[in-house]
Amino acid sequence: MQKRALGKTGIDVGEIAFGCWRFGGVDVATAQERIETALETGMTLVDTADVYGLDNNCPWGGAEALLGDVFAAAPALRDQIVLATKGGIHLGPDHQGREGLGVPYETSPDWITHACEESLRRLKVDVIDLYQIHRPDFLEHPASTARALSGLVASGKVKHVGVSNYTASQVSALRAHLDVPLQTVQPEFSVSRLDSIDDGVLDQAMELGLTPLAWSPLGGGSVLSAAGALGAQLDLLASAHSTSRTGVALAFVLAHPARIIPIIGTGRPDRIREAAEAADITLTKAECYSLIAASGRKLP
Ligand code: NAP
Repeated sequence: MQKRALGKTGIDVGEIAFGCWRFGGVDVATAQERIETALETGMTLVDTADVYGLDNNCPWGGAEALLGDVFAAAPALRDQIVLATKGGIHLGPDHQGREGLGVPYETSPDWITHACEESLRRLKVDVIDLYQIHRPDFLEHPASTARALSGLVASGKVKHVGVSNYTASQVSALRAHLDVPLQTVQPEFSVSRLDSIDDGVLDQAMELGLTPLAWSPLGGGSVLSAAGALGAQLDLLASAHSTSRTGVALAFVLAHPARIIPIIGTGRPDRIREAAEAADITLTKAECYSLIAASGRKLP
């Protein structure tokens, strides 16, 4: 698998990344096998978040804690991974235990510092390579969010920072106040979720040299069962390239000129390997446009 630049960090990572949203609810040995399989295929960036785990009936922080257990069981893995996590979603009581003060999003310096320290503790690492604001907090001034991120870098808790689910204008507002470089954005992007192709997010990434990390690049699995024109076009291209729908859908994301890094979500080793094969598939511009049209986009 080839590598792609992670913003302007000087770090290159495998062009497909491994995601931990669905990581959890398994024992440490199984989790370790998933991470090792991803690394064997060349996926070196691992993306998680403090909130991951809740969807797998684990407690808050469950996915980070499991990854931390994997690092404890196999310490050599830590340095092979570019470790990305996120904070800024806040579902429960506030961090002083005050019930009822929980808000969906919280990017104040106090909360982000606390959230990051908790992530470090659960992950059992000294430093996070990429810390991302998970979702924009509409009620926090971007100067304050910027202070939170700059503080994490200044304190040595994180090396680099990024954002997730930010619009282009939210990125601009944050960057105007940041005194460290923003390196990544993380939109949802797949052949069935094309919003960022023309909402400014990918254009801005190319303008500023930010690396887009695409979440749910298989549409959370929906691309694999798509019917109608999209399903037919995926099958046609899969046959032409001797691959599967997975291969075509990921190759589509990889083909975008913003040099997007898709973050895959399966935990099954056979499917991780199948996804990695997409790195060897090059779709032509005509094939990419055929998928965009098949997804229902009007191309006048
Ligand atoms: P995805 O790769 O689009 O979807 C994964 C789903 O597809 C899993 O349910 C998986 O099932 C299924 N799948 C994969 N290959 C399959 C196959 N060959 N046949 C049938 N089903 C298959 O990605 P995702 O899990 O939705 O998201 C990926 C990552 O993006 C997350 O782990 C996280 O890191 C990130 N993310 C970020 C945000 C954000 O707000 N920033 C939101 C969501 C996700 P199995 O597991 O059973 O294989």
